[in-house]
Amino acid sequence: MPLSPDESQHLRVLRLRPGAELRVFDGQGAEAHATLIRLDEGGAMLELGEAIDNDRETPQPVTLAVALLKGDKLSDVVRAATELGVTTVQLLQTRQSDVPEIGEQKLIRLRRVAAEASKQSRRAVTPEVLAPIPISQLKLEGQGLLAHPGSAERLTDHLDWQRPLTLVSGPEGGFSDGEVRALTEAGFVAVTLGPRILRAETAPLAMLGAIAATGV
Ligand code: SAH
Repeated sequence: MPLSPDESQHLRVLRLRPGAELRVFDGQGAEAHATLIRLDEGGAMLELGEAIDNDRETPQPVTLAVALLKGDKLSDVVRAATELGVTTVQLLQTRQSDVPEIGEQKLIRLRRVAAEASKQSRRAVTPEVLAPIPISQLKLEGQGLLAHPGSAERLTDHLDWQRPLTLVSGPEGGFSDGEVRALTEAGFVAVTLGPRILRAETAPLAMLGAIAATGV
């Protein structure tokens, strides 16, 4: 099996020689042993070995729907969210965000960040990073939890691994009342992350951290 130019370059940097034993994954859940057969200017050739059971994924897919944030904050969010087990990152356009859209280059960079972070955490799945949609188009599939300061509901009281999970986190300016109303009417449950106001880049990680701490 030939490797992509990027991955072949990675093996060159590691100075691997034919015969080296590797673990490979396809980004969609499959992981296997492999042996390096050849590594030259034409790229790397591997022989696939036995499949490996990889049980690093949550019982149901977890989507993080996060508002567009200023500067490079989304890179940090995507990196840590990948480590914390997220399956999909859905970017959101919201009313009170200072950032109305995201360029193609930045989106590509976020996808690269997700791929690197997933390798680092030895996940076999690379989370998808989906281009922004208006928050009004966010559909509830399974259960949805919305981080909203002042809510009395606790995230862990609502966790239900029978259904896919969507976590929603707002921009620096918070959600508008109308957005909170529309989401809760659509079935999302507003939950607290404690009595302190968290930064927009901290809140998604607090949600995912609370879930990770349950040991899934
Ligand atoms: N300026 C806003 C705060 C925005 S914080 C205000 O004063 O209300 C950015 C986002 O982080 C919020 O939209 C919310 O989704 C989340 N968040 C921050 N702190 C939170 C908390 N204590 N509980 C639940 N969600 C929180």
